[in-house]
Amino acid sequence: MIVDMEECGVCEDCIDVCMEEAIERRAYTIIIDASKCDSCGECVDVCPVGAIYEE
Ligand code: SF4
Ligand code: SF4
Repeated sequence: MIVDMEECGVCEDCIDVCMEEAIERRAYTIIIDASKCDSCGECVDVCPVGAIYEE
């Protein structure tokens, strides 16, 4: 998963929904750890601005 930081409002909804704890906030950036992600798609569905894409 990749995050388009041009669109992301850093609301952290994706962090809350990720059961794998693969998403982390660092300052004003959202980082997804591909080694933890199981591609469930929950973060894509929850993002209010459609900023998360499957690679
Ligand atoms: S849910 Fe979307 S807008 Fe909110 S922090 Fe995650 S990527 Fe950014
Ligand atoms: S696809 Fe699922 S496991 Fe991967 S970052 Fe999004 S919520 Fe977490």
